[in-house]
Amino acid sequence: MADADTSTTITGRCYCGATRVRATQAPHVVAYCHCTDCRRVTGAPVAVFAAFDEAVVTFTPDEGRRVAANPGVTRTFCAVCGSPLTGRYDYLPGQVYIAVGILDQANDLAPQFHAHESQRLAWLHIDDELERFAKSARSQLTDAAK
Ligand SMILES: [Zn+2]
Ligand SMILES: [Zn+2]
Repeated sequence: MADADTSTTITGRCYCGATRVRATQAPHVVAYCHCTDCRRVTGAPVAVFAAFDEAVVTFTPDEGRRVAANPGVTRTFCAVCGSPLTGRYDYLPGQVYIAVGILDQANDLAPQFHAHESQRLAWLHIDDELERFAKSARSQLTDAAK
């Protein structure tokens, strides 16, 4: 997925439909995140995010409400229904992480690894061969963006 396919269009919307998203290139990387933050943000036992170049993503009418509850991270939510839309990390400039569950092409966006495996819920068992990182997999994320 590192090769940007310019013919790709990825679309999505929040729960209520007030916020729509469109990306004109495939994501750099798709990953599970088992961290407690992502769990709270999504309300799900594990989050899956797709990392896009900020430049190829547009939100209509806008990205909604910004919440910066933790240093270095900004999350956005639909201003009407509160669906989690994005995450941005200071250490990954120019990238926007979109919750895969809001994307119409989610079925084609299989995760490539597990981040924050050390915080995975004990009862959650995902049977796959993907690489598992105890923490943020920061190096994999920054490499994927190059
Ligand atoms: Zn909404
Ligand atoms: Zn996380």
